[in-house]
Amino acid sequence: FVNSVEEFFKYATDNEVEFVDFRFTDMKGTWHHLTYTIESISAESFTNGIPFDGSSIDAWQPINKSDMLLKPEAESAFLDPFTADSTVVVFCDVFDIYKGELYEKCPRSIAKKTLKYLAETGLGDVAYFGPENEFFVFDDVKIRDDINCSYYEVDSEEGGWNSAKNFTDGYNTGHRPGTKGGYFPVQPIDSMVDLRAEMVQTLKQVGLEVFVVHHEVAQAQGEIGVKFGTLIEAADNVQKYKYVVKMVAHLNGKTATFMPKPLYGDNGSGMHVHQSIWKDGKNMFFKAGEYANLSDMARWYIGGILKHARSVAAFTNPSTNSYKRLIPGFEAPSILTYSMQNRSASCRIPYGAGEKSVRVEMRFPDSTSCPYLAFASMLLAGIDGINTKTEPIGPMDEDLFELTLDEIREKGINQMPHTLRGSLEALIRDNEYLKPVMTPEFLDTYQHYKFETQVWPDEARPTAFEF
Ligand code: GLN
Ligand code: MG
Ligand code: MG
Ligand code: MG
Repeated sequence: FVNSVEEFFKYATDNEVEFVDFRFTDMKGTWHHLTYTIESISAESFTNGIPFDGSSIDAWQPINKSDMLLKPEAESAFLDPFTADSTVVVFCDVFDIYKGELYEKCPRSIAKKTLKYLAETGLGDVAYFGPENEFFVFDDVKIRDDINCSYYEVDSEEGGWNSAKNFTDGYNTGHRPGTKGGYFPVQPIDSMVDLRAEMVQTLKQVGLEVFVVHHEVAQAQGEIGVKFGTLIEAADNVQKYKYVVKMVAHLNGKTATFMPKPLYGDNGSGMHVHQSIWKDGKNMFFKAGEYANLSDMARWYIGGILKHARSVAAFTNPSTNSYKRLIPGFEAPSILTYSMQNRSASCRIPYGAGEKSVRVEMRFPDSTSCPYLAFASMLLAGIDGINTKTEPIGPMDEDLFELTLDEIREKGINQMPHTLRGSLEALIRDNEYLKPVMTPEFLDTYQHYKFETQVWPDEARPTAFEF
């Protein structure tokens, strides 16, 4: 929409903009905003930056060093589709005035540094990312108020949790998909058609290219397919996507959630991430005639990610709930190998892809990750794999959900961690591959923050199931 600071002001005038909404992302992926009146913004705002209080953002600055700056990127401007008064949103990086450089704990800045590092290695000049963010839509309010909510009711016949009762699709009660029955009967079983369509229209308004939209496997689950982009574009798009999906649901009296595993016994929500590295306009992951048309570089890239996956998971699966999704039987992986067409492997190579479309699809990530950190950590693990010519275990084309623990051990395959504690402990042991970009201070803060806000509170809580 906008290609320069100059164009930004023309865009603002053309659209009768009254407010400028500056947004940045914290370490857990939450999008924050600070709104200025249009009259108070000038070209200098873009060069000098916008001041904010860095001590009020989780695990960032101490109170005595709280002054920070937002560095707005004019080119990222788009109109907020949800405000009553015309408001233009601008993505920002965070600038550390004490060190005079981009802030070491700003995820978007870390992602930018990762791209610079990719260029320095000479392996490629651009990395493409194509995330697929799945989500659930529940009735507002009822989740907490309804006595039938699955979190509180034990299904006596099954001896487990009655997850179906947690499906609170308010449009109808007679026709609803059964467990794993959502993919994908037509209406009236699919009652989210209009809601998803509204999400798609709004996504297009904010500049995303949407190509497919459908009900997903679980009850009340959906997915909207968005075109891939360069690392920063793709991560920015994830922020827009979550914002739009949640807001459209909210305005319709619903709650959308990207929580990885809200329902026991049904599929969870992933964020599969398709990836490739390009150089001089050529897809470096393509080599005709090899397994799945993968080049050595692509195979080593997979090797690097699978080798470091247990620690990468601290960024790609950063909530305690993430690990309830990574269990066999629900199209989410736990086995660290790769395969063509295989949805039980951590890395799938989409079948029959040609020169331009050969890519690897990492299936373990989920949308509780901060997209900038998730993409950056995978790219860094992949680069390490290429530099050290790391061969991944595989390919393994069988149904990996059927493997016994003995077979997994005999084949020497690693598995994803089973808890967030597991991945954070892996991060403490295995982080050299991240160091070209992530500072020790950032890594230390990040893992401590996750222990404090996720692991310890969860470990200390008796659950309804234990009771
Ligand atoms: N929902 C599955 C997951 O958790 C993926 C299902 C699919 O897209 N085929 O990853
Ligand atoms: Mg998909
Ligand atoms: Mg899907
Ligand atoms: Mg997929």
